[in-house]
Amino acid sequence: MTDTKTTTHHKSHPLTIGVLALQGAYEAHAQTLQSLGAIARLIRTPDQLTGLDGLIMPGGESTTMLKFLEHNNFFEILSTFVKTTPTFGTCAGAILLATCVEHPAQKSLAALDITVERNAYGRQNDSTILKAPTKLPGGPLEMIFIRAPRITHTGPTVEVIATREGFPTLVRSGHLLAATFHPELSDDHRVHQLFLDLIHQKQAQPSQSS
Ligand code: GLN
Repeated sequence: MTDTKTTTHHKSHPLTIGVLALQGAYEAHAQTLQSLGAIARLIRTPDQLTGLDGLIMPGGESTTMLKFLEHNNFFEILSTFVKTTPTFGTCAGAILLATCVEHPAQKSLAALDITVERNAYGRQNDSTILKAPTKLPGGPLEMIFIRAPRITHTGPTVEVIATREGFPTLVRSGHLLAATFHPELSDDHRVHQLFLDLIHQKQAQPSQSS
């Protein structure tokens, strides 16, 4: 058999990315994905998770999302899905991915080894736009925070890509990515591109049993 894995760069078949569309800011994610050449599929039931290359869990209100996830075994099916399939959680989506949620404590999928403090920057309507250097190439990144959580602890496998006031705002661990801000509201699409690159990388790896 021929071995083609060595120098194959990003294969150009379009990725199919689900955007959890139970509540919150899912439309803008879908548009950003499409502008980067991916196929975006809005996900409202557990069976729609089948066949996806990756999933985005958007910002919104994590407590409300948890309510919707109580139906059709969605929470349990999503817990299993995010263990192996690339998933990007933004804001409320990052809260859902975290192993530990505080302020107040709340149930989560517990897939990504971070602790998050909800609504950590003050009042309900707190909203801030920050432009700051990150580990991403291409200069400072605009980060739009809306009633944002704060990542107060990261486990040993978690890479911090961006920060605000010393706290992580964009983190990666293996096939999981999380942002405490809203990259779908910026014209700069580097964070979504990072997610698509992460999926391509994972798909290019020889199959692993995890
Ligand atoms: N404060 C929201 C929550 O706790 C998250 C805010 C957002 O997603 N923009 O779920």
